[in-house]
Amino acid sequence: MLWYPYQQLKTMKPPVHIEYAEGVYLHTKEGKLIDSVSSWWSAIHGYNHKELNYAIKDQLEKFAHVMQGGLSHNASNDLSIKLGQLLPGDLNHVFFSDSGSVGVEVALKMAIQYYNNLGYKNKTDLLALKHSYHGDTFKTMQVGNDSDYHSAFPGKSGVIHIDPVEEQLEYILSKKHKNIAALIVEPILQGAGGMRIYDKSFLESARILCDKYNVLLIFDEVATGFGRTGYMFVSELVEPDIVILGKALTAGYIGHAATIANDKVFNAFYSEDSSKAFMHGPTFMGNALACSVALKSIEIFLRENYIEKIKWIESYLKDNFTKIKSCKIKEIRVIGGCACVEVYEASSLEGFSDFAFKKGVWNRPFLNYCYTMPPYIINQEELNQIVNVFKEWFEGE
Ligand SMILES: *Cc1c(COP(=O)(O)O)cnc(C)c1O
Repeated sequence: MLWYPYQQLKTMKPPVHIEYAEGVYLHTKEGKLIDSVSSWWSAIHGYNHKELNYAIKDQLEKFAHVMQGGLSHNASNDLSIKLGQLLPGDLNHVFFSDSGSVGVEVALKMAIQYYNNLGYKNKTDLLALKHSYHGDTFKTMQVGNDSDYHSAFPGKSGVIHIDPVEEQLEYILSKKHKNIAALIVEPILQGAGGMRIYDKSFLESARILCDKYNVLLIFDEVATGFGRTGYMFVSELVEPDIVILGKALTAGYIGHAATIANDKVFNAFYSEDSSKAFMHGPTFMGNALACSVALKSIEIFLRENYIEKIKWIESYLKDNFTKIKSCKIKEIRVIGGCACVEVYEASSLEGFSDFAFKKGVWNRPFLNYCYTMPPYIINQEELNQIVNVFKEWFEGE
């Protein structure tokens, strides 16, 4: 039987069974639910989108997948070029993988091997932010035992967590920069750590300080990429050395991620010396179905001017969602296509999912947070229905 994530199976409620899905709606046998969280923030065009379906069918007629080692094909070639064009500056060396977590691992390994290739053998530690979330993977390289794959990587790599505060970053870098390879952040919006928003001025300082102390800056845009904060990518505001995209990259169709490096990073690997090659290669990297649907998703995003839609969603949420009043609420936060209520006590959210379900909305709070990240195709009536669920839960019907 199926093992569900993040849950005690013995006490969990039976899951909601989905028969089919279309537009913003998930359909059960009994009725339909608006998906207010876009299937973990990925289904930005909603479900069963004819053009996206067709992109996959069209590719499927040719082939579903071929290994990326030694083989090339249009879908992953075209997507790598497209991402290079969309991202600012010289972020255009695209390494594919099958999930956001692996995409983050790729970025961190790239940063450590970057310094190893340049002769800085001690730059193996990493800096990250408190309350950050970068995925769920753990120890695969360490249990593996083939030095051909792992020679560029140290046995130990420590992690230091700081607040998104310039003074803390400067202090740590001034003390420890000789051991630090990279600072990794979820830029401006920390998702699974509680939808926390911080100012872009920290990223501007981080860019300057990382250059000053010879440390790479990595943006994990797995959640923020493709419009969620109101920008296509936060990397448009401040350019990192490496950026990771996932979740909405493939519009909720097939898991895939991209780790994109700038010229500076890439050039440290590009050499006559084979030991400087990047030793990583997920089985399903560059999957042709995933890349085809990603390309079509980007085409629709640009053609339909989604950034304008997200601006509208943001202003609607700012006008309505932020007005919800209750003594249980600690803070309400809105940015782009994301709105979150943080409560003082997690118990204030017990039963929220069922309440939303009865009102025709699919939602799943976590810890002290309930939030919405709707598909961008949502209309006013549907968005209002979501906002009303939160309003009625906190203010009474
Ligand atoms: C979801 C998420 C990940 C992990 O992606 P998976 O595809 O679930 O492995 C990594 N970083 C951030 C910021 C995320 O939100």
